[in-house]
Amino acid sequence: MKSCPVNMKGADCIYEDKTDKKAGIDEILCTGCGICPKICPFDALTIINLPDTKGLEALHQYGLNGFRIFHLPLIQESAITGIVGRNGIGKSTVINVLSKTIRANFGKFDLSSISDEEYFSRLIQLFKGTALQNYFTKLSREEIRIAYKPQQIVSIPHVFKGTVNELLTRVCDDEERKKSMAEKLHVAHILDRDIAVLSGGELQRVALCSCLLKKDATLYIFDEVTNYLDIYERLNSASVIKEVVASNTALVVEHDLIVMDFLLDFLHIMYGQEGAYGMLTGVKSAKAGINDYLGGYSKEENVRFRDKAISFDKDSVSEDKRIDVFVSWGERKIEAGNFSVTVQDGDVKKGEIVGIIGRNALGKSLFLKSVAHAEGEFGMLAISYKEQLIERSDTLVLSELSQFPNYTDTFYQMYVLDPLNIAPLLEREISDLSGGELQRFAIARCLLQDAQIYVLDEPTAFLDIEDRLKVSKVLRNFVTLKGRSAFIVDHDLVFMDYLSDKLMVFEGKPGLEGFGLSPMSMRDGMNHFLKQLKITFRRDDGNKRPRINKLGSVKDQEQKKSGEYYYA
Ligand code: SF4
Repeated sequence: MKSCPVNMKGADCIYEDKTDKKAGIDEILCTGCGICPKICPFDALTIINLPDTKGLEALHQYGLNGFRIFHLPLIQESAITGIVGRNGIGKSTVINVLSKTIRANFGKFDLSSISDEEYFSRLIQLFKGTALQNYFTKLSREEIRIAYKPQQIVSIPHVFKGTVNELLTRVCDDEERKKSMAEKLHVAHILDRDIAVLSGGELQRVALCSCLLKKDATLYIFDEVTNYLDIYERLNSASVIKEVVASNTALVVEHDLIVMDFLLDFLHIMYGQEGAYGMLTGVKSAKAGINDYLGGYSKEENVRFRDKAISFDKDSVSEDKRIDVFVSWGERKIEAGNFSVTVQDGDVKKGEIVGIIGRNALGKSLFLKSVAHAEGEFGMLAISYKEQLIERSDTLVLSELSQFPNYTDTFYQMYVLDPLNIAPLLEREISDLSGGELQRFAIARCLLQDAQIYVLDEPTAFLDIEDRLKVSKVLRNFVTLKGRSAFIVDHDLVFMDYLSDKLMVFEGKPGLEGFGLSPMSMRDGMNHFLKQLKITFRRDDGNKRPRINKLGSVKDQEQKKSGEYYYA
């Protein structure tokens, strides 16, 4: 209050407040001069200039001077509408308001006592003259029945105890329908299994199955459908969603560009700033929406939400110029119970990133673990490993990371910690981090360790598109500048193409027998892998992003004939 230039002129820009924050800022009077965040000894303040919100009432706000959202997506009837955007800018809040999971507070914090009738009449008034007026009118009359697939599927075993069949029976008592959906989503063989012992991929498919089985649903909401699924299951699940939702309406939040392109009819871009505000663009066609998102600019709103456009025009098939072989291995067979995986010989060179793709349960992680624990043929090379499922604990992020001497090294600060935006996480417990934050922390911890080979198992899970690309850059800079090597297992083809120098393809019978091929060039690897899936990709004319060809289309047939499945 003593330092704010507006207060010094006699106005109450910063004022004492009776809430537990003890102080507030009048957002109309504040000029955004930026003095108070600089002098606050506790780093407690951030001042952000919001885009022009004149005439716009916040739809929902988390506390005084807190995070707020301004819009809702238009739900197009009989179509699949998506929302794309960064993590932490309100996508889940939007879904929760639309599904009645939370009540919007219109930026006021004293609405808990109003009746449902009054609440809906405010919403209907706010969206008068738009399609949302109709939506909330129907929602208030309970004419909309929502089927919802939550993002945090890992919490399902905590709230439901029993078998997969018992869970599905709670939403559908029609045995035939249940059996048919379970077969389509490849969960028929685990119906008698306890929910508590399912893998991430199985749990994701069961959650999707339960959502799609909900009787008489008129609106399906899917909050991230691809986490833990391999590329084959991603595309299969997307096809099943399309089939079931064909005559219905759906809203999807997703980060996998290929799946979004395949699934969506329409798209809203959500932009804003983490912890400050979230806004939605108007509705766009899926193709235009994805391209605008990658371009970082929405013409209709004249809003630029990223400095640089994202382009996939990478010379992925350039000849390999690296010559120093870092490590090589001979053909090996690894056995675990009734499962075995045979991996052909191969090598990794200094500064090289080897991508590993293939279905789940083919022994990719087993191979990586054997690399991680190998001695002898891998010499005395030290290996740092980021697990697929990251353990949570009560330890502070700072205590965990600062145990590595590299934590205070300026190289690691500049090339690892800063780009992964670790600073805001330092004072938090690992168990409190969101999925995306936990992933960033685990990648940073892996790279802080002194090693020659870095092994990262599914580094894109729960990351938004921007963070996926940032992680690509961090890994690329790290292995190049430090002269190290990395193995990456992931199911996001766009990310793998962007990041990898070589590709190892795993094939076989999931859960029974796996076969890992020697590392090959990106072109050979992608062609080999996609041939098994019978999928071809074309490139978008502008940003060169890969897009799936329609099965049997002229392009699909031509590319299959010439053997070019990905780099056509
Ligand atoms: Fe005052 Fe706003 Fe400047 Fe802070 S940013 S000192 S509240 S005018």
